[in-house]
Amino acid sequence: MKPAVLEFKNISFHYRSDQADQDPILENINFQIHDGEFVSIIGSSGSGKSTIFRLITGLEQPSQGEIHLNGDMKKERLGQVGYMPQQDLLMPWRTIMDNAMLPLEIKGIRKEEAQTEISELLGDFGLEGVENAYPGDLSGGMKQRVSFLRTILSGSNILLLDEPFSALDAITRFTMQEWLLEQWVKWKKTILFITHDVDEALFLSDRIFILQKNPILTLEEIKVPLGRPRRIRDLSQPEIALLKENLMNRLRQKVSV
Ligand code: ADP
Ligand code: MG
Repeated sequence: MKPAVLEFKNISFHYRSDQADQDPILENINFQIHDGEFVSIIGSSGSGKSTIFRLITGLEQPSQGEIHLNGDMKKERLGQVGYMPQQDLLMPWRTIMDNAMLPLEIKGIRKEEAQTEISELLGDFGLEGVENAYPGDLSGGMKQRVSFLRTILSGSNILLLDEPFSALDAITRFTMQEWLLEQWVKWKKTILFITHDVDEALFLSDRIFILQKNPILTLEEIKVPLGRPRRIRDLSQPEIALLKENLMNRLRQKVSV
């Protein structure tokens, strides 16, 4: 098995408010993500999916436990992983080129050099010819590709994508899923992907984590028994259809408890 690039060791976490500590979200959680894996996290709204990403990025610190990145325990994690948050955070007043350039700007790379690097990538990201447009001029799918380009340019081997396709229509969403798998193979990244769409998780992932109702005491996990490359029709194989039903039932139970 490939080495772990991300590891949670006995992680507990609760938000602190001004009045009091809130109920725990995670209690004693352990998991490993291996180099080059595609892992999805599914769970109902409010179950703590985005919180896990905020812990990985270092926007929050665990109340107990250790987070390891690329084999080392890392207390300061800001800027170490590529993070695409739930809302696309493109700046409406910056062109597509200038939005994409942000991570390179932060690294102190010269503007001309950054422009050259990005220009070479625009075709791959389906963004040729729109570098001088503004986010408001682009379709939802294109905006997500700009956000993804920016996440790739962070240079990290680990990418966290928080419900990137949830606002897209079904056709665009499917095109984007296929495109994302192509990019994942091409860039050899490790991807952690949040979704509440079971089909999306099955189509994309090697493994799926299922979040229970809070506090999360264990991460239930399933392996997706599909090879690669995948076709959308693979999802109608009886084994996968059964798995889907099973996942839907588990998610439903979590909501109604
Ligand atoms: P998900 O992404 O699965 O929908 P979140 O991780 O965003 O869920 O939130 C998990 C729980 O933590 C929710 O009950 C939410 O209200 C709470 N929560 C999220 N962010 C904060 C915060 N900054 N302060 C306090 N509570 C929060
Ligand atoms: Mg969320």
